[in-house]
Amino acid sequence: TQGLMAGKRGLVLGVANNRSIAWGIAKAIHGQGGLVGLTYQGDALRKRVEPLAAEIGGLVVGHCDVTDTESVDACFAKVEQEWGTIDFLVHAIAFSDKDELTGRYVDTSAENFSKTMLISCYSLTAVAQRAEKLMPNGGSIVTLTYYGAEKVMPHYNVMGVAKAALEASVRYLAVDLGPSKIRVNAISAGPIKTLAASGIGDFRYILKWNEYNAPLRRTVTTDEVGDVGLYFCSDLSRSVTGEVHHADSGYHVVGMKAVDAPDI
Ligand code: NAD
Repeated sequence: TQGLMAGKRGLVLGVANNRSIAWGIAKAIHGQGGLVGLTYQGDALRKRVEPLAAEIGGLVVGHCDVTDTESVDACFAKVEQEWGTIDFLVHAIAFSDKDELTGRYVDTSAENFSKTMLISCYSLTAVAQRAEKLMPNGGSIVTLTYYGAEKVMPHYNVMGVAKAALEASVRYLAVDLGPSKIRVNAISAGPIKTLAASGIGDFRYILKWNEYNAPLRRTVTTDEVGDVGLYFCSDLSRSVTGEVHHADSGYHVVGMKAVDAPDI
């Protein structure tokens, strides 16, 4: 095969359906000759992930729920058995109770705080530990974050706190794994209507607000974020680590509502 990813193999975690950001990244990697392994969270998603994996000639690794350590270990064991080593790992996983992605952050429960942090933040470290063993010649780890880590966004609440911790984890992991030539970066994607996003209150309003106020005057697509993921998984970004890179039509540089923005 030819392309930026020729000869490279890796895992993409977090495909739920064809609107998933993880799927955008998997397609972009495949388009450049890379070989992708996909996991699914439970049998309901298996039915969606299997045909998608077939579309890109990928490996269906198996069930992976980051709250179930055995399932995570089994997936990495399967990958080691099939491939021996990997070159990239994409982490596109997040979860919080829908009831707390609306209203006030101050009302967050301890239980959902812990669950959100475990699934949306710690899981990156958990998979990085396992990926390190499969990356003897170095590699690239990429996660997905959101601007709600930096600034308060309506309804993002505990997920914003988890993303802030995730972004800090990216920096700590980059330092720990740098000597092993493993790079760790995050893509801060603008809002996209995915399954996970449908849990966030007033999401349509957030999309419109971004469309009217981002410098490029539009939102971003999964395919566009996929291309940024490709850049991070490929050697094009070989000098970049510990970075949080915004793929958001420039929204993060804006300080106030655009003067020409219509009312929503
Ligand atoms: P999605 O619903 O398609 O993907 C979320 C994935 O997380 C699913 O595949 C789901 O199975 C997985 N997941 C949840 N809990 C899990 C668990 N316990 N174990 C294993 N997997 C689990 O939605 P998406 O928007 O593509 O989300 C992917 C990533 O992108 C998330 O980290 C999300 O926070 C981030 N992100 C999304 C947006 C957006 O607007 N959609 C913007 C910025 C960042």
